[in-house]
Amino acid sequence: MGPNLVNFLTEIPKTDLHVHLDGSPRLSTLIELAQEHHVDLPAYTEEGLRALVFRETYDSLVDYLRGFPLIVRVLQQPGALERIAYEFAWDCLNEGVLYIEPRFAPQLLATATLDVIGVLTEATRGLERAKKEYNAQQSVRDGQKPSFDFGIICCAMRTFMTDVSEYYHAFCSLHQDEPQALVYQLAASALFHAAIKAKKDHGLPVVGVDIAGQEAGYPAAEFQAAFEVAHKNFLGVTVHAGEAFGPEAVFQAITDLHCERLGHGYHLFSVDKVVKKERPAEFVAGLVQYVAKRRIMLEVCLSSNRQTMTELRDDISKHALKDMLAHGICVSLCTDNRLVSNTTVVNELLLAIEHFALTPTELKTMIVEGFKRSFFPGSYLQKRKYVGQVMHYYEHLERKYGLEDWYLSEDSMFEDQRRPQQPQTEAGRETGTLAREQGREQENENIDSTVGACLWHSSGDRIRSLSPQWTRARARGVKMPEGGEATDDGKMNRGLREGRRRLEMPPEVFM
Ligand SMILES: [Zn+2]
Repeated sequence: MGPNLVNFLTEIPKTDLHVHLDGSPRLSTLIELAQEHHVDLPAYTEEGLRALVFRETYDSLVDYLRGFPLIVRVLQQPGALERIAYEFAWDCLNEGVLYIEPRFAPQLLATATLDVIGVLTEATRGLERAKKEYNAQQSVRDGQKPSFDFGIICCAMRTFMTDVSEYYHAFCSLHQDEPQALVYQLAASALFHAAIKAKKDHGLPVVGVDIAGQEAGYPAAEFQAAFEVAHKNFLGVTVHAGEAFGPEAVFQAITDLHCERLGHGYHLFSVDKVVKKERPAEFVAGLVQYVAKRRIMLEVCLSSNRQTMTELRDDISKHALKDMLAHGICVSLCTDNRLVSNTTVVNELLLAIEHFALTPTELKTMIVEGFKRSFFPGSYLQKRKYVGQVMHYYEHLERKYGLEDWYLSEDSMFEDQRRPQQPQTEAGRETGTLAREQGREQENENIDSTVGACLWHSSGDRIRSLSPQWTRARARGVKMPEGGEATDDGKMNRGLREGRRRLEMPPEVFM
């Protein structure tokens, strides 16, 4: 990967729609705050903690989750949440992530002196401070660069960590007579009511709700009543689903919980994980089309999945992202946890480019969808304007990095050929494999058409030799003329693009 690529990926405006604030503090701050507030950590150096807790690889999901109680204890200290939220926003900004939806479980952080709304207020204060600082820059004020914004997602927990949370501990003592499952549901309802109140009465930028924690044994459907409340009060809904369970969990999240986005959705294509449906392959095919057509977004976290799923440990290219792309599903790459997964948005994009041979078109689509499918806190018209700004800025960077001509090519028109679609009846694991294999064959042909190759090989501010026409022509042995490019199509498309610009409309249909 060339330095061009990293620079380009850093400069383009990006989103992080699936990121746990409590999995993303700076390690140095975590240590500093733990020492200041006398919180026990297994080590007090970055190297020590990286060796013992926040590692490159984990043995299991349980191992991966071990760091969270430590972070939560630090976040419960006075002033800690605000500072960590502030630094988190800047960590995102420093790699060009301009829109974020940090999520966390406010009930885990609430104490006798700080209620759920107090917790949300503190996090907002930190994020808002970073927002003000960034947006005060001249280049943002004069509209050269898009501004920074954020919305908060409140996570309910499928199970509690009563030993680390005063709130959950108290909640359980008050509900001793109810079955445990009902207590979890009640807590989720209580949280979503607080989220609505925070938004309506306190003007806090709470934009959505989620449910996190162990999926096995705690089906999302049990939380239907809580999600009904969120839905009826116009909060965005995203659900951690299809991480441990299969397509039926995804279906449940969409139909019973009204989710518009799915956290991971990894097993969407796993026919072998269908338990109840009689014709699993047909069910999966239908579900895949439903998810694709409704533009239900999959928040994909490659590093995190690799760390918790043994089958991906040695080969991330086995990730269902390939199938998602092949079926035109709306995907956004996210970090999940910047510290616990030891990653960044740029790193996730690099992984996808390297292992899934993303074309510039696919990358751009993915980035723009991130902004479009966000639960943006402002009005629809404000969101539309913001997305328009983001796209214009992206195009400016394409010109700067010489990627512009790529889009003058026919790549987007031939996208279906590049990522072969599967017939509905054959969807599922078998066809997923088929899609992957066909995709791989196709990729070998068009190997030079990945974002990485384009930028690596580009010289000056134009990519001449790497438009798909020339990639194909070259494969057929056609020699490229001196300084040649596929001019006719290029001119036509350039004319269209100019026309769109003059109309001052977002160049793509807004969904
Ligand atoms: Zn997550």
